[in-house]
Amino acid sequence: MAKERTLAILKPDCVRKDLIGTVIKHIQEGGFRIVSLKMVRLSKQGAEGFYEVHRGRPFFEDLTNFMSSGPCVPIVLEKDNAIEDFRKLIGATDPAEADEGTVRKLYADNKGENIVHGSDSVENGKIEISYFFPENELVQMHA
Ligand code: ADP
Ligand code: MG
Repeated sequence: MAKERTLAILKPDCVRKDLIGTVIKHIQEGGFRIVSLKMVRLSKQGAEGFYEVHRGRPFFEDLTNFMSSGPCVPIVLEKDNAIEDFRKLIGATDPAEADEGTVRKLYADNKGENIVHGSDSVENGKIEISYFFPENELVQMHA
């Protein structure tokens, strides 16, 4: 299996509920290596840019208001099969439909405020990582 990178975002609800450490513990226990992380406050425009593919969807306005409602924590993660494995760790978009033990099942309130983002493909992951992290912030731990 190939090493992949994915972009996680601990969303504003995760930060407000003081669950940053708790969710990072799930992530690290899941075998993901943290390549980089930071806390940022997206502007409304910044949130719209990140979720551009969803523009026009009925939830777009609520989603971008929510994502710009407070600080969030983007995290670059690395692991074999990271994209698929991270989506498994977080569970379905709607916590009501997420598997037992997943981050969204455990901590999310609803389909909109669902604690965490995960990239859905290697290609989108690259684009999403570059949205938050310039190359010099992607720390190389191993030679
Ligand atoms: P995922 O984050 O699981 O990849 P999507 O890419 O489909 O899900 O949607 C992006 C985000 O938009 C979701 O994580 C969620 O916050 C929000 N969202 C998606 N669908 C809905 C919906 N039907 N109602 C409210 N919010 C939604
Ligand atoms: Mg998605």
